[in-house]
Amino acid sequence: MKELHLTVHNATGLHARPAKVFVNTAKQFKADIRVQHGGKRANGKSLISVLTLGVERGQQIAIFIEGEDEDEAAAALTAIVAAGLGEGAAEPAVAVATAASTPTPAAAPTATPANVLHGVPAAPGVAIGPLFRLRNVSEVPAHLIGAVAGTDAEETHRLQTAIAQAREQLTVLRRQLVQRGAAAEAAIFDVHLEILEDDDLLSAVGDRIRRGESAAQAWQSVITERAQAVAALDDPLLAGRAADLHDVGYRVLRLLVGAGEGGLRLPDHPVILVAQDLTPSETANLDPTRVLGFCTAAGGPTAHAAIIARALSLPAVVSMGAGVLDLADGTLAVLDGQNGVLVVAPDAVTVAQAQQRRERWLAARLASEQAAAEPAITTDGVRIEVVANIGGVAEAERAVQAGAEGVGLLRTEFLFLDRNDPPDEEEQFRVYRDIVQAMGGRPVIVRTLDIGGDKPLPYIRVPAEANPFLGERGIRLCLARPDLLRQQVRAILRASAYGPLRIMFPMVADWNEWQRARQMVLEVARELGVPPVPLGIMVEVPAAALLADVFAREVDFFSVGTNDLTQYTLAVDRQHPSLAGMSDGLHPSVLRLIAHTVEAAHAAGKWVGVCGELAADPQAIPILVGLGADELSVGVPAIPTVKAQVRTFSRAEAEQRARQALRCATAAEVRALLPAA
Ligand code: PEP
Ligand code: MG
Repeated sequence: MKELHLTVHNATGLHARPAKVFVNTAKQFKADIRVQHGGKRANGKSLISVLTLGVERGQQIAIFIEGEDEDEAAAALTAIVAAGLGEGAAEPAVAVATAASTPTPAAAPTATPANVLHGVPAAPGVAIGPLFRLRNVSEVPAHLIGAVAGTDAEETHRLQTAIAQAREQLTVLRRQLVQRGAAAEAAIFDVHLEILEDDDLLSAVGDRIRRGESAAQAWQSVITERAQAVAALDDPLLAGRAADLHDVGYRVLRLLVGAGEGGLRLPDHPVILVAQDLTPSETANLDPTRVLGFCTAAGGPTAHAAIIARALSLPAVVSMGAGVLDLADGTLAVLDGQNGVLVVAPDAVTVAQAQQRRERWLAARLASEQAAAEPAITTDGVRIEVVANIGGVAEAERAVQAGAEGVGLLRTEFLFLDRNDPPDEEEQFRVYRDIVQAMGGRPVIVRTLDIGGDKPLPYIRVPAEANPFLGERGIRLCLARPDLLRQQVRAILRASAYGPLRIMFPMVADWNEWQRARQMVLEVARELGVPPVPLGIMVEVPAAALLADVFAREVDFFSVGTNDLTQYTLAVDRQHPSLAGMSDGLHPSVLRLIAHTVEAAHAAGKWVGVCGELAADPQAIPILVGLGADELSVGVPAIPTVKAQVRTFSRAEAEQRARQALRCATAAEVRALLPAA
């Protein structure tokens, strides 16, 4: 038996996604794996069981491993925990975006009239309409739950059928969200699918069935018990995952008692929904022609329901307190998702003002969407390419609809994540080909595999590192495993026959890395008998920015990855939970590195794109354009608004603003140069 004592150092501890990475790694081994923390013990192969340990960042866990492959299991678990359990920038980025786009409520509650309720802003926009309280949407009538049990075999069969149907529904729901352009949000349902396969949970239900309970009774008891245990945890982020358990739990329960999908029963006119909380499925299923927006008594701005609301452009306010549940159905209200306010029974003046703000909000959205296909040209005639950051074929299709002029960053990691073996050349080729075809002749920049650091893969073992962000990641990792890179380059070059592809390498810090990577592309092109494609590097490490004049002699283009460039320039971990405020890409030091890169590139006749989150920040856009960025590469939903903003200023004004920014001492001073959008 092996015993490990590890510290969990990723940002959010063992919450849903990191716990899933842990459990998936554990499941690859035959050995029995138990995890112990704070006097509780969990089955290391059960997501729920691991979640209920409530492990937070910085806490220790003990792992007991017993079985023929215990050594391999111990090495893999040590590596995955050390590498941060797959916690990428996605969650902190969402939290930061929320904070930026949804200011905290103004005005102290004592100064507000009694009909004005405050909550936490969750999704911007204004809605005006009658309230409608959602009652007991998830409840299954007690008389159905209490039905007499059949034989063990019958009840087990019923349970298995309901789980299979639930899996089918979730897969469809997930696909629909991806088609609506909410790929990241769709991943929430992966956790639900995982819960449906949870060994520990299923065996607890099986035990109850064997003791004579009906499948519905057994399922309800076990889900309620586990959800209570998760909800009781100290950590609010973990406790929020109880909603996931309830959500998937009730989905199966409704199927078990024949209540079907149990969609929300809503009035036939548009309403503002009021609920205790909304589950992710409920939010994803909301019909925007019937629901103007929603407010909840519980929930938080980073909860899945809020994330989905933002993706669907539904104004939302959460965490309003139980008082909101007492409001009578049909009462007219104004919901302000931007400021986190609900005005109940507003007077005529308030309604008229809200109406104007709603119209402005809708008009701005519509105008930017309608003009999305038009180029982004500054008022003095400088065209800025606005392209998309994507992770897959469906997103490429959405990007074209949203007006993307190409793909500035294809994060190829998506193909390698959540699986047990790397995709082979053929699979990669098909995906790259489909993406370039979906883009219909627009250029696609494929970034070679960027893993390690915050993005570990279970099947690529990297020895535990004290500082994974300063360790084997990005191009370093690929050059240390040339077969992996060569296979990817072959697939990309084969796909380049179907449309304009370019390749860029992540995390380049040294001239030799560029040389070796470039050499490999040239060799593979010769082998395949195809012409090489344009090659560029990401500028994510200060070394690359400082040596931009040297790199500019050979690279065809640069793309500034401000997420990592900010992290390495300011020495602030991009996932750090309490240093998020310091990690601002508008820091003058980062801007000086970008300015240096652009000058060096332009002097050599090369172009520069920006593909980090900063490129979609309304306060940063004029400064980046003023510094000379030729291309902005942003998430798909941001494309129309980024284009619209570029059309509102001149390059000359932007250059002046950029010059002022470069002289500032702090990021706050830079931000003060431009009003918040
Ligand atoms: C970046 O670092 O800015 C970037 C775009 O790469 P990623 O976020 O994938 O690390
Ligand atoms: Mg990066």
